[in-house]
Amino acid sequence: MVLEGHPRYKSLRLRNKLVDGYEKGITSAHGLIAHGRGEAFDYLLGEQTSKNALDATNVACAYLLTARHPILSVNGNTAALASEEIAEFCAITSIPVEVNLFHRSVKRINRIADYLHAHGVVNVLAGFDFVKLDHISSDRAKVDKHGIFKADVVFAPLEDGDRAQALTRLGKVVLTVDLNPLSRTAVTSTVTIVDEVTRAMKNLISFAKRFEGKDDQDGLDTLKASFDNVQNLKTSYVIIQQRLQSLTL
Ligand code: ATP
Repeated sequence: MVLEGHPRYKSLRLRNKLVDGYEKGITSAHGLIAHGRGEAFDYLLGEQTSKNALDATNVACAYLLTARHPILSVNGNTAALASEEIAEFCAITSIPVEVNLFHRSVKRINRIADYLHAHGVVNVLAGFDFVKLDHISSDRAKVDKHGIFKADVVFAPLEDGDRAQALTRLGKVVLTVDLNPLSRTAVTSTVTIVDEVTRAMKNLISFAKRFEGKDDQDGLDTLKASFDNVQNLKTSYVIIQQRLQSLTL
Protein backbone atom coordinates (compact mmCIF):
# COMPACT_ATOMS: atom_id res chain seq x y z
CA MET A 1 0.00 0.00 0.00
CA VAL A 2 1.26 3.52 -0.82
CA LEU A 3 0.48 6.33 1.63
CA GLU A 4 -0.93 9.50 0.08
CA GLY A 5 1.64 11.68 1.81
CA HIS A 6 4.56 9.82 0.22
CA PRO A 7 6.58 12.19 -2.02
CA ARG A 8 6.34 9.75 -4.93
CA TYR A 9 2.73 8.79 -4.25
CA LYS A 10 1.38 9.31 -7.77
CA SER A 11 4.24 7.52 -9.44
CA LEU A 12 4.08 4.60 -6.99
CA ARG A 13 0.31 4.33 -7.46
CA LEU A 14 0.78 3.94 -11.21
CA ARG A 15 3.51 1.35 -10.66
CA ASN A 16 1.14 -0.59 -8.40
CA LYS A 17 -1.55 -0.52 -11.09
CA LEU A 18 0.90 -1.94 -13.61
CA VAL A 19 2.18 -4.64 -11.27
CA ASP A 20 -1.43 -5.54 -10.55
CA GLY A 21 -2.06 -5.62 -14.33
CA TYR A 22 0.97 -7.85 -14.77
CA GLU A 23 -0.27 -10.24 -12.08
CA LYS A 24 -3.69 -10.36 -13.75
CA GLY A 25 -2.07 -11.17 -17.12
CA ILE A 26 -3.06 -7.84 -18.68
CA THR A 27 0.28 -6.08 -18.86
CA SER A 28 3.29 -7.85 -20.37
CA ALA A 29 6.74 -7.96 -18.73
CA HIS A 30 7.96 -5.78 -21.63
CA GLY A 31 5.21 -3.30 -20.78
CA LEU A 32 6.71 -2.84 -17.31
CA ILE A 33 10.03 -1.89 -18.90
CA ALA A 34 8.35 0.49 -21.36
CA HIS A 35 6.71 2.22 -18.40
CA GLY A 36 10.16 2.83 -16.92
CA ARG A 37 11.21 4.71 -20.06
CA GLY A 38 8.07 6.81 -19.74
CA GLU A 39 8.75 7.54 -16.07
CA ALA A 40 12.27 8.75 -16.87
CA PHE A 41 10.91 11.26 -19.39
CA ASP A 42 8.16 12.31 -17.00
CA TYR A 43 10.83 13.07 -14.40
CA LEU A 44 12.69 15.23 -16.93
CA LEU A 45 9.48 17.02 -17.89
CA GLY A 46 8.57 17.86 -14.28
CA GLU A 47 5.81 15.26 -13.75
CA GLN A 48 3.06 17.67 -14.71
CA THR A 49 1.01 18.58 -17.76
CA SER A 50 2.73 21.35 -19.68
CA LYS A 51 0.81 24.02 -21.58
CA ASN A 52 1.90 22.52 -24.91
CA ALA A 53 0.75 19.04 -23.79
CA LEU A 54 -2.64 20.48 -22.90
CA ASP A 55 -2.84 22.22 -26.29
CA ALA A 56 -2.05 18.91 -28.03
CA THR A 57 -4.68 17.15 -25.90
CA ASN A 58 -7.35 19.63 -26.93
CA VAL A 59 -6.44 19.28 -30.61
CA ALA A 60 -6.47 15.48 -30.32
CA CYS A 61 -9.94 15.68 -28.82
CA ALA A 62 -11.05 18.01 -31.62
CA TYR A 63 -9.96 15.34 -34.14
CA LEU A 64 -11.84 12.64 -32.26
CA LEU A 65 -15.03 14.68 -31.94
CA THR A 66 -15.07 15.48 -35.67
CA ALA A 67 -14.02 12.05 -36.97
CA ARG A 68 -16.33 9.86 -39.06
CA HIS A 69 -14.94 6.61 -37.64
CA PRO A 70 -12.79 7.26 -34.57
CA ILE A 71 -11.24 4.41 -32.60
CA LEU A 72 -9.29 4.18 -29.36
CA SER A 73 -6.55 1.53 -29.57
CA VAL A 74 -5.73 0.07 -26.17
CA ASN A 75 -2.76 -2.06 -25.13
CA GLY A 76 -2.00 -3.80 -21.82
CA ASN A 77 -0.33 -0.79 -20.19
CA THR A 78 -3.08 1.64 -21.14
CA ALA A 79 -5.75 -0.77 -19.88
CA ALA A 80 -4.00 -1.32 -16.55
CA LEU A 81 -3.35 2.39 -16.01
CA ALA A 82 -6.41 4.14 -17.37
CA SER A 83 -9.48 1.88 -17.71
CA GLU A 84 -11.70 4.14 -15.57
CA GLU A 85 -10.74 7.22 -17.60
CA ILE A 86 -11.24 5.34 -20.88
CA ALA A 87 -14.72 4.28 -19.74
CA GLU A 88 -15.67 7.88 -18.87
CA PHE A 89 -14.24 9.30 -22.10
CA CYS A 90 -15.95 6.69 -24.28
CA ALA A 91 -19.26 7.17 -22.48
CA ILE A 92 -19.18 10.88 -23.35
CA THR A 93 -17.97 10.50 -26.93
CA SER A 94 -19.36 7.04 -27.92
CA ILE A 95 -15.95 6.14 -29.33
CA PRO A 96 -15.32 2.37 -29.54
CA VAL A 97 -12.20 0.70 -28.16
CA GLU A 98 -10.03 -1.89 -29.90
CA VAL A 99 -7.59 -4.11 -28.02
CA ASN A 100 -4.37 -4.17 -30.02
CA LEU A 101 -1.24 -5.81 -28.66
CA PHE A 102 2.43 -6.07 -29.51
CA HIS A 103 2.68 -9.30 -27.48
CA ARG A 104 -0.59 -10.71 -28.72
CA SER A 105 -2.37 -13.80 -27.44
CA VAL A 106 -6.04 -14.66 -27.49
CA LYS A 107 -5.94 -15.17 -23.73
CA ARG A 108 -4.47 -11.74 -23.07
CA ILE A 109 -6.85 -10.02 -25.50
CA ASN A 110 -9.82 -11.62 -23.73
CA ARG A 111 -8.45 -10.70 -20.31
CA ILE A 112 -8.00 -7.07 -21.36
CA ALA A 113 -11.44 -6.92 -22.97
CA ASP A 114 -12.99 -8.37 -19.79
CA TYR A 115 -11.01 -5.91 -17.64
CA LEU A 116 -12.21 -2.98 -19.76
CA HIS A 117 -15.83 -4.21 -19.58
CA ALA A 118 -15.53 -4.60 -15.80
CA HIS A 119 -14.43 -0.96 -15.60
CA GLY A 120 -17.41 0.24 -17.62
CA VAL A 121 -16.12 0.33 -21.20
CA VAL A 122 -19.11 -0.81 -23.25
CA ASN A 123 -17.97 -1.10 -26.85
CA VAL A 124 -14.79 -3.20 -27.04
CA LEU A 125 -13.54 -4.81 -30.26
CA ALA A 126 -11.21 -7.71 -29.60
CA GLY A 127 -9.65 -7.62 -33.05
CA PHE A 128 -10.41 -11.23 -33.95
CA ASP A 129 -11.97 -10.22 -37.29
CA PHE A 130 -8.68 -8.78 -38.46
CA VAL A 131 -6.67 -7.75 -41.49
CA LYS A 132 -2.88 -7.44 -41.47
CA LEU A 133 -1.32 -4.08 -42.18
CA ASP A 134 1.86 -3.98 -44.30
CA HIS A 135 5.27 -2.81 -43.02
CA ILE A 136 4.77 -3.99 -39.42
CA SER A 137 6.76 -6.98 -38.18
CA SER A 138 4.93 -7.36 -34.85
CA ASP A 139 1.43 -8.63 -34.14
CA ARG A 140 0.29 -5.01 -33.87
CA ALA A 141 -0.17 -5.37 -37.66
CA LYS A 142 -3.39 -7.29 -36.96
CA VAL A 143 -6.17 -4.73 -36.83
CA ASP A 144 -9.92 -5.18 -36.59
CA LYS A 145 -11.79 -4.72 -39.88
CA HIS A 146 -14.49 -2.76 -38.11
CA GLY A 147 -12.12 -0.77 -35.88
CA ILE A 148 -8.65 0.50 -36.69
CA PHE A 149 -8.80 -0.70 -40.30
CA LYS A 150 -11.95 1.30 -41.03
CA ALA A 151 -11.06 4.29 -38.86
CA ASP A 152 -10.15 7.71 -40.21
CA VAL A 153 -8.82 8.84 -36.80
CA VAL A 154 -6.89 6.41 -34.57
CA PHE A 155 -6.17 7.40 -30.99
CA ALA A 156 -3.38 5.07 -29.87
CA PRO A 157 -1.79 5.98 -26.53
CA LEU A 158 1.61 4.32 -25.90
CA GLU A 159 1.94 3.38 -29.56
CA ASP A 160 5.03 1.91 -31.22
CA GLY A 161 6.85 3.68 -34.02
CA ASP A 162 6.35 1.03 -36.73
CA ARG A 163 2.62 1.06 -36.43
CA ALA A 164 2.33 4.84 -36.11
CA GLN A 165 4.24 5.07 -39.40
CA ALA A 166 2.12 2.37 -41.07
CA LEU A 167 -1.16 3.99 -39.99
CA THR A 168 0.00 7.41 -41.15
CA ARG A 169 1.03 5.90 -44.52
CA LEU A 170 -2.52 4.59 -44.88
CA GLY A 171 -3.73 8.19 -44.65
CA LYS A 172 -5.13 7.92 -41.15
CA VAL A 173 -4.90 10.66 -38.56
CA VAL A 174 -2.83 9.21 -35.70
CA LEU A 175 -3.14 10.65 -32.22
CA THR A 176 -0.85 9.39 -29.50
CA VAL A 177 0.26 9.89 -25.91
CA ASP A 178 3.99 9.47 -25.39
CA LEU A 179 6.18 10.94 -22.68
CA ASN A 180 9.21 10.54 -24.94
CA PRO A 181 9.08 13.48 -27.36
CA LEU A 182 11.99 11.94 -29.30
CA SER A 183 10.38 8.57 -30.07
CA ARG A 184 9.52 7.51 -33.62
CA THR A 185 5.89 7.47 -32.57
CA ALA A 186 6.10 11.05 -31.32
CA VAL A 187 7.63 12.41 -34.49
CA THR A 188 5.43 10.36 -36.85
CA SER A 189 1.99 10.96 -35.36
CA THR A 190 -0.36 13.72 -36.43
CA VAL A 191 -0.80 14.85 -32.82
CA THR A 192 1.50 13.77 -30.00
CA ILE A 193 0.45 14.44 -26.44
CA VAL A 194 3.70 14.52 -24.45
CA ASP A 195 2.10 13.68 -21.13
CA GLU A 196 1.48 10.78 -18.78
CA VAL A 197 -1.44 8.73 -20.09
CA THR A 198 -3.73 9.03 -17.03
CA ARG A 199 -3.21 12.82 -16.86
CA ALA A 200 -3.85 13.06 -20.62
CA MET A 201 -7.06 11.00 -20.36
CA LYS A 202 -8.39 13.25 -17.56
CA ASN A 203 -7.72 16.32 -19.70
CA LEU A 204 -9.41 14.69 -22.70
CA ILE A 205 -12.47 14.03 -20.56
CA SER A 206 -12.61 17.71 -19.47
CA PHE A 207 -12.36 18.91 -23.07
CA ALA A 208 -14.98 16.43 -24.33
CA LYS A 209 -17.36 17.53 -21.56
CA ARG A 210 -17.09 21.15 -22.68
CA PHE A 211 -18.32 20.12 -26.13
CA GLU A 212 -20.91 17.55 -25.03
CA GLY A 213 -24.22 18.13 -26.85
CA LYS A 214 -22.77 21.07 -28.84
CA ASP A 215 -22.22 21.18 -32.57
CA ASP A 216 -19.16 23.36 -33.09
CA GLN A 217 -17.56 21.81 -36.16
CA ASP A 218 -16.05 25.17 -37.25
CA GLY A 219 -14.46 25.82 -33.86
CA LEU A 220 -13.00 22.31 -33.71
CA ASP A 221 -11.75 22.52 -37.33
CA THR A 222 -10.02 25.83 -36.54
CA LEU A 223 -8.34 24.25 -33.54
CA LYS A 224 -7.08 21.35 -35.67
CA ALA A 225 -5.76 23.67 -38.39
CA SER A 226 -3.87 25.82 -35.87
CA PHE A 227 -1.75 22.88 -34.63
CA ASP A 228 1.83 22.11 -35.60
CA ASN A 229 3.05 18.83 -34.09
CA VAL A 230 6.75 19.52 -34.74
CA GLN A 231 6.58 22.90 -33.01
CA ASN A 232 4.69 21.35 -30.12
CA LEU A 233 7.35 18.63 -29.73
CA LYS A 234 10.09 21.25 -29.84
CA THR A 235 8.47 22.96 -26.87
CA SER A 236 8.85 19.70 -24.92
CA TYR A 237 12.55 19.52 -25.86
CA VAL A 238 12.96 23.09 -24.59
CA ILE A 239 11.23 22.23 -21.29
CA ILE A 240 13.69 19.36 -20.73
CA GLN A 241 16.69 21.55 -21.68
CA GLN A 242 15.58 24.36 -19.38
CA ARG A 243 14.99 22.02 -16.47
CA LEU A 244 18.45 20.51 -16.88
CA GLN A 245 20.10 23.94 -17.22
CA SER A 246 18.38 25.26 -14.12
CA LEU A 247 19.83 22.48 -11.95
CA THR A 248 22.26 23.76 -9.36
CA LEU A 249 24.27 21.25 -7.41
P1 ATP B 1 9.17 4.10 -30.74
O1 ATP B 1 9.01 2.79 -31.48
O2 ATP B 1 8.06 5.05 -31.00
O3 ATP B 1 10.53 4.75 -30.89
P2 ATP B 1 9.80 3.01 -28.15
O4 ATP B 1 10.37 1.77 -28.71
O5 ATP B 1 10.67 3.99 -27.45
O6 ATP B 1 8.94 3.79 -29.21
P3 ATP B 1 7.75 1.48 -26.81
O7 ATP B 1 8.47 0.54 -25.92
O8 ATP B 1 7.11 0.97 -28.05
O9 ATP B 1 8.67 2.73 -27.10
O10 ATP B 1 6.60 2.25 -26.00
C1 ATP B 1 6.80 2.88 -24.84
C2 ATP B 1 6.64 4.38 -25.04
O11 ATP B 1 5.58 4.81 -24.22
C3 ATP B 1 7.90 5.07 -24.60
O12 ATP B 1 8.27 6.07 -25.52
C4 ATP B 1 7.53 5.72 -23.26
O13 ATP B 1 8.13 6.98 -23.12
C5 ATP B 1 6.03 5.87 -23.37
N1 ATP B 1 5.31 5.67 -22.07
C6 ATP B 1 5.45 4.65 -21.22
N2 ATP B 1 4.62 4.78 -20.16
C7 ATP B 1 3.92 5.92 -20.38
C8 ATP B 1 2.85 6.57 -19.69
N3 ATP B 1 2.36 6.10 -18.54
N4 ATP B 1 2.36 7.70 -20.23
C9 ATP B 1 2.83 8.18 -21.39
N5 ATP B 1 3.83 7.61 -22.11
C10 ATP B 1 4.36 6.48 -21.62
